[in-house]
Amino acid sequence: MIPTDPQPVPQEAATGPLPQWDRVEELVHEAYQRYHGHAEGTVADYIPVLGRADPGLFGLVVTDVAGGNHAVGDAEVLFSIQSISKLFVYALALERHGHARLRDVVGVNNTGLPFNSVMALELNAGHPMNPMVNAGAIATTALLGDGDPFASWAALDAGLAAFAGRTLSLDEEVYSSEAESNERNLALGKLLTNYGRLEGDSDALVDVYTRQCALAVTAQDIALMGATLADGGVNPVTGLRVVSEEVARDALSVAAAAGMYERSGEWLFEIGLPAKSGVAGGIVAVAPGKGAVGAFSPPLDSAGNSVRSQLAIAFLSRAMGLNLFASSVR
Ligand code: GLU
Repeated sequence: MIPTDPQPVPQEAATGPLPQWDRVEELVHEAYQRYHGHAEGTVADYIPVLGRADPGLFGLVVTDVAGGNHAVGDAEVLFSIQSISKLFVYALALERHGHARLRDVVGVNNTGLPFNSVMALELNAGHPMNPMVNAGAIATTALLGDGDPFASWAALDAGLAAFAGRTLSLDEEVYSSEAESNERNLALGKLLTNYGRLEGDSDALVDVYTRQCALAVTAQDIALMGATLADGGVNPVTGLRVVSEEVARDALSVAAAAGMYERSGEWLFEIGLPAKSGVAGGIVAVAPGKGAVGAFSPPLDSAGNSVRSQLAIAFLSRAMGLNLFASSVR
């Protein structure tokens, strides 16, 4: 279950722009105050080094499509991007290969199974179905370099930097820890190869995927990366176009269907925004044409979604009128 707020606020309609600057500032601070003491959730430990994260960390940022910024708490603390990278690497692959190729090769549906499921691949003759879980993300990373791991890395390193407006560095400790305990992802790579769904050296491509997940970001970075998708693919701070409007739209529709692991349907029902979550505790949620919320707090629920981040984004979606499906009569 998505965590429930003991004191939910009324849902504002999404019709029209974001509230005034001062009001957004006030709501971001209110969200922090409401949830920073919330103690539910457990820090991920299947990647050994992640288990050492401070469970008290909590950062929250709203970045709007004009580049306006509202940050509170641990907004500048670095954490590994993990699965949040899947959304942005998917956008880069869409930009390179187009809507139809990505739909056919990787798929756009939710598997309804955990992010590292082998069964999801086996049930679908090796078709990944979903670019937001590991098998589909490994296939997407491979496509970005046409099967050449060096080309994939160069493209995603440059592309994620363009989304974030700065070069991202690799968290070597997270990378080594995951690389040493990566049997499952290596197995997914081999299965994709076995089904003829992956071109290139699967171990080397899984290594690129592992590095991609170990890039270090802050809540501030993921908010700006999300705001770039909210702004039709143009980074609102640097002014540079990163992907086309069509790609931003397609990437967000997949995030809406599958960004929150096997809770994606419930998330869309309760919060009404495309979002992507990662096991280090980050979540980015995007309100197209308005802006994005970047949240970070390590304790996770059983699906792998940060508990405080979900509560804060749910609050902001209601109070700021972000839910895509909440219209009112003009
Ligand atoms: N690097 C992690 C893995 O592949 C990402 C998991 C996640 O954030 O969902 O297992």
